[in-house]
Amino acid sequence: MGAVSVFDLIADEYETVSYAHDPGSGLRCIIAIYSTALGPALGGTRFWPFESEDAALRDVLRLSRAMAYKASAAGLDLGGGKAVVIGDARTAKTPELLRAYGRAVERLGGAYITTADVGTTSADMNIISETTRFVTGTSKGSGDPSPVTAYGVWHGLKAVAEEVWGDASLASRHIAVQGVGKVGAGVVRHLAEEGAQLTIADIDREAAEALAAEVGADVVPPEEIAGIPCDIYSPCALGAVVNDASLPGLKCRAIAGAANNQLERPDHGDALEEAGILYAPDYVINAGGLINVEDELHGYDADRAHAKAAAIGGRLRSVFSRAKADGISTAAAADAIAQERIRNASR
Ligand code: NAD
Repeated sequence: MGAVSVFDLIADEYETVSYAHDPGSGLRCIIAIYSTALGPALGGTRFWPFESEDAALRDVLRLSRAMAYKASAAGLDLGGGKAVVIGDARTAKTPELLRAYGRAVERLGGAYITTADVGTTSADMNIISETTRFVTGTSKGSGDPSPVTAYGVWHGLKAVAEEVWGDASLASRHIAVQGVGKVGAGVVRHLAEEGAQLTIADIDREAAEALAAEVGADVVPPEEIAGIPCDIYSPCALGAVVNDASLPGLKCRAIAGAANNQLERPDHGDALEEAGILYAPDYVINAGGLINVEDELHGYDADRAHAKAAAIGGRLRSVFSRAKADGISTAAAADAIAQERIRNASR
């Protein structure tokens, strides 16, 4: 590990960090459990060619904490966990390696439950399920989470409208959606049905044009969408869209979308507050995907998953109230609410 002290990095925040390897298949993985105070630590398996073990460790720690906050803020009885498998998924990901990985997950006795993430698929989860019970997101499970994520984001957008304009209706509100992939397109369709005015952008121009023709939206080039004068800017593509360069050009009253890690730095939450832009914290509004996979633990029921995702509106309203009461940004309020629920359960 060189100069990195794992104990320094995990400090008193993380419960367990496990390293597992299997010389036969070449498996090298790290599984981080942030907390099991609220329940088992559910989180995906990221298969990635990290440049070093340090980089893999730092990533798995950061991601497992993010999962804990997302689950806690969503009111789910789940802790936070994540796993990284070090290697190039295109060449290193063999059935033998996935089975060895499943055995490593099984040895944790259910403290960690895995699912798909960057570099892994539901077909991979099928193979992993041959050697562990603690896996969700197989092809027999809850399926693609994107529709439930989009449904939750739509309810989040309505909570934002209620907070800003005193009316949850999005009819005639102008919403600029960045990225019309699996989630963004779903959000756009919900908004179109409600009668919103839509401007959309995607680096896949054809996808944007086709969706625009279907729902009656305007299309702008990807580099323009963040600066469109609109009521709500909805990032549904990349992270770090709120940064020092983009902030001065934002002409929206609120930011609320599906993308993970929308703030480049934590203090950008304060900068939005100062600019008079209401921010719907990303991990609160985009929790529908986690809600969907969590439902599998109770025997998957799509209606129940959608109902839980609709409750994201109420969760955002609590975040906005907390921010106002404590005089802090909405991003800081979401963290405070998530941390408290974990801390109270730990007691
Ligand atoms: P996706 O890959 O299906 O869609 C992303 C879309 O964004 C693509 O159409 C892509 O062409 C477009 N895009 C990429 N760069 C762009 C740019 N610079 N400008 C405009 N468009 C750009 O992914 P997805 O599943 O729809 O996820 C979208 C975001 O939501 C990601 O940040 C993801 O992490 C997050 N998220 C997804 C889920 C889920 O259930 N899929 C759950 C939680 C969070």
